[in-house]
Amino acid sequence: MDGYAGQQQALQNMSSSKVALSIDVEDWFHGPHITGSDFSFYPDVESFMKTWDKPYDHITRPTALIIALLKEYNIRCTFFIVADVMDYYPGLVESIVDAGHEIGCHSLHHKMSLHTKTKKAFISKDEFEQDTGKSKEKLESVYGKNIIGYRAPGAYIGDWMFESLIKLGFKYDSSVTANSLYNKTDFNTSKISSVPYWIDKNNSKLLEIPWPYFKIGPVRFPTGGGPFLRLFPSWYSIKGIRESLKRGDSVYYWHPYDVNEQSFPELASKNKRRPFFFKKSSKNGEKKMRQIIESFSGKWACCEDIYKKNLTTQS
Ligand SMILES: [Zn+2]
Repeated sequence: MDGYAGQQQALQNMSSSKVALSIDVEDWFHGPHITGSDFSFYPDVESFMKTWDKPYDHITRPTALIIALLKEYNIRCTFFIVADVMDYYPGLVESIVDAGHEIGCHSLHHKMSLHTKTKKAFISKDEFEQDTGKSKEKLESVYGKNIIGYRAPGAYIGDWMFESLIKLGFKYDSSVTANSLYNKTDFNTSKISSVPYWIDKNNSKLLEIPWPYFKIGPVRFPTGGGPFLRLFPSWYSIKGIRESLKRGDSVYYWHPYDVNEQSFPELASKNKRRPFFFKKSSKNGEKKMRQIIESFSGKWACCEDIYKKNLTTQS
């Protein structure tokens, strides 16, 4: 496609494209430096809960704030929820369902499925299927509907997981981030852009809704959300979403703790297990969220909308 045709195509894409807004509902102790990864302080959430004797709630207030914000802007989005939130924060998931949002699955305890360095399986396929199936059912008991969307904890997604997701009844996944700075998959992402695409496993299909990025020269900068909201001014996310919308539909995400104004507990910082992006509290989180929302007025959707829209491209 020549330059002019390319520009016309980008303009056309921009006018019809939607960006799914998603919220990954987890608390700070679900972070890979605290629980559930190859470098975590505690092996799992259960052992954290057994030994942690200080307050730990960095989720209730910011989730309520986000629900209010979405109501104000009249946006229905997708909440990918870690199912054990139902045990530690009774009523929280109900408040999200009552507000009319789509519920997606973000695992049972936010345990990583891949080893963060080698990208080899950190849990077995059986364990993945059991935990994910259990979390899906648990969340569906409140949602009252089938859950069709999945997001991998920490966005660590292996090719072997797609077959399991299809088997468990998921229709789409939104975990793949193709960028030049890091790769959290066990497959090559160089041919993947930010445009949703179909994954075929044994003649069954799953839609992947990959994360946004912007390009400077050949370098692709990830702008999915979360840490980028805490670390950078809002223009960084806005640039990534805008460029991705020129390519096609896109997705963006936040955590409730991205609008948490208190600093996270210092746990695990002494032995350098705490990644730099967890050291910054989010003083301007709400302001940045508003700037991002207002920059794409009329463009917001939930992941289910993107899935339904892309059904027509399934071949
Ligand atoms: Zn997560």
